[in-house]
Amino acid sequence: MTETLPRPQLTDRLSALLGPKGITTDAQDLAPWLTDWRGRYHGAAMAMVAPANAQELAEIVRLASETGTPIVPQGGNSGMVGGATPDSGGGALLLSTRRMNAIREIDPAARTVVAEAGVVLQTLHEAVAAQGLRFPLTLGGKGSATVGGLVSTNAGGTQVLRHGTMRALVEGVEAVLPDGSIYHGLATLKKDNRGYDIRHLLVGAEGTLGIVTAATLKLVPALIDRAVVWAGVHSPLAARELLLMLEARAGREMEGFEIVPQRCLANVLHHIPGTRAPLASAHRWHVLIEFARDNAAAPPPQELAEALMAEAFERDLVQDAAISSSESQAEAFWKLRDSISEAERAEGPAMQHDISVPVADMARFIIEAGAEVERRFPGTEVAAFGHMGDGNVHFHVAAPKGSDRATWPEHPGKEISGFVHDLVVAAGGSISAEHGIGQMKRDELGRLSDAARLMALRAIKQAFDPKGIMNPGKLVPL
Ligand SMILES: Cc1cc2nc3c(=O)[nH]c(=O)nc-3n(C[C@H](O)[C@H](O)[C@H](O)COP(=O)(O)OP(=O)(O)OC[C@H]3O[C@@H](n4cnc5c(N)ncnc54)[C@H](O)[C@@H]3O)c2cc1C
Repeated sequence: MTETLPRPQLTDRLSALLGPKGITTDAQDLAPWLTDWRGRYHGAAMAMVAPANAQELAEIVRLASETGTPIVPQGGNSGMVGGATPDSGGGALLLSTRRMNAIREIDPAARTVVAEAGVVLQTLHEAVAAQGLRFPLTLGGKGSATVGGLVSTNAGGTQVLRHGTMRALVEGVEAVLPDGSIYHGLATLKKDNRGYDIRHLLVGAEGTLGIVTAATLKLVPALIDRAVVWAGVHSPLAARELLLMLEARAGREMEGFEIVPQRCLANVLHHIPGTRAPLASAHRWHVLIEFARDNAAAPPPQELAEALMAEAFERDLVQDAAISSSESQAEAFWKLRDSISEAERAEGPAMQHDISVPVADMARFIIEAGAEVERRFPGTEVAAFGHMGDGNVHFHVAAPKGSDRATWPEHPGKEISGFVHDLVVAAGGSISAEHGIGQMKRDELGRLSDAARLMALRAIKQAFDPKGIMNPGKLVPL
């Protein structure tokens, strides 16, 4: 049964439950949390609730379930697809996990950490580093992104090549389900065959099946040292050959392999203060490679990088390369890579696509799809950069010079995105590699999914959340 409560009565009951620290209805306090990180989506909410623990959160969800009130979970609000932004109706509760920010336990022997949903990624890194350990997932939004958001978007980042996405790093989950019950799944069981894996349903569910309250995460030993290489290459095909060579020769010591077109590097050098060209000569394409070791028996990364780059020169796979000789130089190379989006925003409007195709096909896809888009939409320029080693690039289509920032993303931007997504699907790829679906790609997911995928998505949602209160309007196509 759903009992309809007038809005003031509902917020009164929530205030009584949570106390003054746990709820706000003040428009000014709410405002920053009602717009997404990219500033594309703007919503409204009757209140923002911030429970202190899983029990309080469960009480909120029970009340929301009884009254049919939509709940939008929010962590650091750094998501890229509008997943944490409510609709403009104003009837939803925005549920912030910010107060659930305890690191419950670090177990050095088991190499695990149990962290609550609101723990910020950077804080997690620092806490486990103090115990000689490392959580091997990092991304540009690490100062805001939370454990709950990372689990719920199955986040990726720059170390997926070696350590996998969140799905590979989540060993257990605790969550409040849409009826207000608490799913206790934090135990790390190597073997567990009790049917459907609830943990893996919750990873990547974007808050549509429940609210993650804590997670058990896998750790690895802290790094001993690393070397970062910036190399100029002829083309994505040469980059692919280099990747294959390094995978065969460097194995687990290679943590990241990123591709950067000259256009992106030029934008960064132009717009981002304090950046310098990493190589003396100009190249159409660049790769950034990280070699790292966390095991004293492995070869020092610097030596490994030197030997492998010498071999790559001989095989004409790279034209020039610089190997970091200090941590600050390694950071400087990564800054060039991490500043691409910011520099691009300063340059002008662009349609951004977080896409994947099979790793073996990525080089050809970058070349052929890039040419097709530029032919079909004259004046545009494609810049595909990022996690080439994972078969995932950010395929950005920049507007012709002089385009109107306000109108271009709508027209012809939407048509361009549809065209890019069609090419991705034709290549057997995914229209969301690491950012999720949210509200931004929901309709495209519906347009481009086969009947079986749509049936499964809708049936799972209906089974968990028959009242449709958990993050409505996100992920699951109508
Ligand atoms: C500069 C920058 C660089 C980035 N780089 C990368 C990258 O390389 N790889 C990558 O994968 N992402 C990247 N991101 C995107 C973003 O950081 C990730 O999607 C991150 O996982 C979002 O975490 P959050 O806590 O900010 O979640 P939010 O933005 O608050 O929420 C994201 C989604 O998860 C849901 N959610 C949040 N918390 C919970 C919870 N406790 N339970 C259930 N659902 C919840 C929300 O409803 C929403 O649908 C980047 C972001 C920025 C700003």
